[in-house]
Amino acid sequence: MGVKLEKIVKTYYDKLAEGKIMARKCKECGAVEWPPLLGCNTCGSPEMEWIEISGKATLVQFVMPSPITRKPEMDFIKPYALGVVDLPEGPSVNVMVRGIDRKNKDIVREQMPVACHATIVEKEDYHTVIFDLDVVPEGKKRERKPKTE
Ligand SMILES: [Zn+2]
Repeated sequence: MGVKLEKIVKTYYDKLAEGKIMARKCKECGAVEWPPLLGCNTCGSPEMEWIEISGKATLVQFVMPSPITRKPEMDFIKPYALGVVDLPEGPSVNVMVRGIDRKNKDIVREQMPVACHATIVEKEDYHTVIFDLDVVPEGKKRERKPKTE
């Protein structure tokens, strides 16, 4: 990791600890990068500035974690899905969305796109951002398949 990027990452996490979610905005084309990057992904310009993002988002797609994609270190926020959210500032990003489980996933899917918002959660030694559904639908009770034994 280069020194410049390290500084950006440090600033990002320092601000998270203060409750602020920061992104980088390109001074050339206006594209917003979150999580923050060294340069602009859209036009390649290195001229970026910090902006605070609102934390508002729209969930447009998600999958339930599988044994391969689940993140055991994030078990404390369960249940969650792996989602794609559109931020009003511009970018679409892969995030963890809390509140979706096997009982309500079909309802959430029918209602998409659904509003959600960023939440800063504290892990052992750093802060990270997850997203919560603005309204968590109550899940249907699934009928249990009788065991065929
Ligand atoms: Zn740009």
